[in-house]
Amino acid sequence: MEYVKSKIRDVQDFPQKGVLFKDLTTAFKDARALHIIGWDLSQLYRDKGITKVVGIESRGFIGGSILAFELGAGFVPARKPGKLPADTISCSFDKEYGKDTIEIHRDAIGPDDVVVLHDDVLATGGTMAAAYELVKSLNPKKIYINFIIELKSLNGRAALPADAEVTSLLSY
Ligand code: AMP
Repeated sequence: MEYVKSKIRDVQDFPQKGVLFKDLTTAFKDARALHIIGWDLSQLYRDKGITKVVGIESRGFIGGSILAFELGAGFVPARKPGKLPADTISCSFDKEYGKDTIEIHRDAIGPDDVVVLHDDVLATGGTMAAAYELVKSLNPKKIYINFIIELKSLNGRAALPADAEVTSLLSY
């Protein structure tokens, strides 16, 4: 993980002043770092019977797809409004830098599914809390929550359901 850490780029004041942005593109473009991220993520969920990984647009699509592939699970995108073509459900929330809404297809998850929700970074937790609510409304057997990076100082875990099992590979 020290190797992966060394490949993550900090960008000050992006996308707005005061935000220290954790840029994972520099880790994803490095073959060894990408391999470690994919392997370590999948080790967290090997024995959990995961059937679907939900990746949050857009940076959550990268790790989420790799995780789904490694686990032999399906991949479900949680997207910004108006991007998904069929019948959707949606939820609005506050972000570290602004307001947003996410949507998933109503038929993406069912009662037999065991789901991992994945995003690259846990900041305030608003995005993931909204995704959790959406997926929960589709009544899967169980929902896990996962991030590559957790920004501890923003206390995003407080925004997540108290009983949710949350993992992250790296904390800052
Ligand atoms: P939040 O809802 O505040 O937890 O924000 C999480 C979402 O915003 C994730 O999809 C991240 O990609 C992005 N994000 C928020 N803050 C940061 C940050 N400081 N560095 C990198 N990504 C961030």
